[in-house]
Amino acid sequence: MLSASVPLAGALAVVFVSWNRDSVPEADGLDALYATAPEVVDVRSLSAGVTFGQLLEDAGMGGTDRNSLLLAFREQANPRRMRSGAEVRIVRRRWGEDPVRIEVDLDRDRLVRLERARSGWTSSLVELVTTTDTVFVAGDIRSSLWTAILDNGGLGGVPLADRRQMVGRLDRVFQWQIDFSRQIREGDTYRFVLERERRPDGSMRSGQLLAAELVNAGRAYYAIRFEPSDEPQSWFDLEGQSVRRAFLMKPIELSRISSGFTNSRFHPILQRWRAHRGVDYAANSGTPVQATGSGVVVRRGWGDAYGRVIDVRHPNGFLTRYAHLSGWARGLAVGSRVTQGQVIGYVGMTGLATGPHLHYEMHVGGRPIDPIAIDLPAEDPVPAADMARWERVRDQRLRLLLGLPGPETFRERRTEARVADSDG
Ligand SMILES: [Zn+2]
Repeated sequence: MLSASVPLAGALAVVFVSWNRDSVPEADGLDALYATAPEVVDVRSLSAGVTFGQLLEDAGMGGTDRNSLLLAFREQANPRRMRSGAEVRIVRRRWGEDPVRIEVDLDRDRLVRLERARSGWTSSLVELVTTTDTVFVAGDIRSSLWTAILDNGGLGGVPLADRRQMVGRLDRVFQWQIDFSRQIREGDTYRFVLERERRPDGSMRSGQLLAAELVNAGRAYYAIRFEPSDEPQSWFDLEGQSVRRAFLMKPIELSRISSGFTNSRFHPILQRWRAHRGVDYAANSGTPVQATGSGVVVRRGWGDAYGRVIDVRHPNGFLTRYAHLSGWARGLAVGSRVTQGQVIGYVGMTGLATGPHLHYEMHVGGRPIDPIAIDLPAEDPVPAADMARWERVRDQRLRLLLGLPGPETFRERRTEARVADSDG
């Protein structure tokens, strides 16, 4: 492992560069993620008319435990006077287990930290002095991007939960170009620049990718953040084409397909051959489900075999369906407008399901189609009016990226390592 300072103009607070030589490869793909993640963070936010106590109940915290937690919370703040939208982070060691820590943002600068003690809960008020810095990360991949970033020695100072978030960011930006769970292979390389807001304890408050490169099977993919004048920020390739599509590849982050789209399969419950005109994603009960595209909720109810189901109508005759849910996001109703990536419900096993999973369907003009197989419509490129500014921003952000060790460096390193091996 090497750490190096990259000489760059401007504010440069943190530099992490890792050759990732000491890591022990694992043979697993993304499945290992759930096994190795040290904590599961369930992020929720208070909406209007919902008390902190109700939110905890929704998160599965009952009676005595919840009362004890509220008692500890009251030592720091009034649970009845919390702002709508306040973020609550419920930390568990594993899905399904009782929470071990809960953080509640009071405002931008203060949070209440609740920790499970021998009996009941303890609380403390934490004053946040956040700092913004830039994180530079580069490495090569031995098995999966997840293990590569988890094992990246240069990221020693970055908490594991934040590294998991970084993988999530990359996955979200590159989801339309690369399937991280299937296409990533040994010898692929990554480098990215992340703008980070940091709490005093070193944990990431928020992180945004400024620029990223992923080299997969010899082909380089780029994503550069840019803020068009009249549109929300997005990510573009070097030619200014949007890397985003009108639909997410999958409704659950970092998830795995357990059953694909087919016109004929043997149904485990019905015990007969039947078409499966959707895609199943394996996930634990309670995992958030995101709307894959922006649109309007046209069904939120019970649909026989589907169990609790949501249908969202999108422009151009598209419709998406999310089935077997354990529940919906609070406030969601028929007629609600949803945006891409918005959490609309939670994984369950209602209706005809042998275990918790999400059944996802996409329809065009009333016909079911395979959401994995179709070419999803692209979002708009950089607007012509912003082209000059885009080129400046792109070049500047690309320079940051290219200052990091890239594919050539890692190729040389691997060759050296092989030579050293055969010498010994
Ligand atoms: Zn299904």
